[in-house]
Amino acid sequence: MKEVIKMTELNFKCKGCKRYFDCDVGKISFPPKQERPRFEKNIICPRCGIRSMDEVELSELGQTQLGEVYFSSL
Ligand SMILES: [Zn+2]
Repeated sequence: MKEVIKMTELNFKCKGCKRYFDCDVGKISFPPKQERPRFEKNIICPRCGIRSMDEVELSELGQTQLGEVYFSSL
C-alpha cells in the first residue's frame, strides 16, 4: 500500500445538504485494487457532521487536488 504522508484539504460536496466544503482528511493512502482512496481522518460536513464516503462526493476541485496527491506519491 502506498502511504502518502501529507496533510491535505480536499473539496467535497455533501450529498445531504448539497453544500461544498473543504475538509482536512489527514494522510491519504491509495490501497491497490480499490477505487477509493483511504483517508486518515473523518470527512466532516460543516452542517451534517461526520459523513462517510458514500454520503459525499469529491467536487471537480477535490478530484484535481486528489489527483495531485496521487501523482506526487508515484
Ligand atoms: Zn452536509
